[in-house]
Amino acid sequence: MCGVYLVNPKHQLPDRLYHTTEEMFTVIECRGCGLMRLDPRPKDADMPKYYPDRYWAYGATRHGPAGFYRRFVLRDHARFVKKALKSVDAPSVAILDVGCGAGDLLASLRKQGHSAIGMDVSHSALRSAKELDVPGVHGSYRQAPFQDQIFDVVMMFHVLEHIPDPDAAIAGARKLLKPNGRLLIQVPNADCMQYTILGRKWMGLDVPRHLYDYRRQDIENLLARNGFAIVRRKYFSWRDNAPCLATSVAPWLDPMSRRVRQPNRNKLLRLIGDSMYFGLTMACWPFALFESMLRRGATLMVDAEKLPQEAVAKWTGGGMPPLGQ
Ligand SMILES: [Zn+2]
Repeated sequence: MCGVYLVNPKHQLPDRLYHTTEEMFTVIECRGCGLMRLDPRPKDADMPKYYPDRYWAYGATRHGPAGFYRRFVLRDHARFVKKALKSVDAPSVAILDVGCGAGDLLASLRKQGHSAIGMDVSHSALRSAKELDVPGVHGSYRQAPFQDQIFDVVMMFHVLEHIPDPDAAIAGARKLLKPNGRLLIQVPNADCMQYTILGRKWMGLDVPRHLYDYRRQDIENLLARNGFAIVRRKYFSWRDNAPCLATSVAPWLDPMSRRVRQPNRNKLLRLIGDSMYFGLTMACWPFALFESMLRRGATLMVDAEKLPQEAVAKWTGGGMPPLGQ
């Protein structure tokens, strides 16, 4: 990211959450800028085996109390998006959600009359989105099947930490955005207090699925060198922060992890597990709020405006150009 190719090994970690493999993975830290990342990175072809089939299958949790909880905590993302929509001077805003998953957020935006579309690499995620009448296209940040400059807002919630070339993703979003369009990003925040205290046990590291562990300055550098100016930052997320702490403390109790590891568990045991996890999450709330107030929350949301080309400074960093060039 900064052009320095000296690194310190930082953590040796297994897949603590889904147990997809017995392999150990190494997280390293750049001696130039401090960015942490997975190294060596698994080959692209090997990546799918670390994503359990059920990873994307959210559809089943749309009903009952789990569904109510999911809709409730998603309001926070919706509010963040709505503030960005206000900057667009049109009754209907064109929105693209890169890595849309099951499309719940898009569904709520479409209800408000916006033309929102999703893109995902997973067919099962897109099927799940279709159940909510959310249109989705199969594609990735490397080849987005859209014309240039047609979207007012591009969203990437929990995408950048999963992909090998974040510069390409942000440059791609820039191409798709209209002048002064908004790019909304959310990533786990490696500068959070949860990481300071828990270290390798912090679930935001989530190896081998997370390839980079960004801090605020890392995201800001990425955005600045790709022609964006940051308008807003948010360190708290109803959906993500307290559950991140709960799962860090007790990964075996994480609802998705239990469903992946024990798909045929009887309903009563599952309910007991879910209730315990819910209680633990509630207990994590005060801390999650506290660290966010100090701007060290477990996730970081950023709203960035596309700058005109002439305002984009040429890369003036160290000896090497940015990734992807
Ligand atoms: Zn660096």
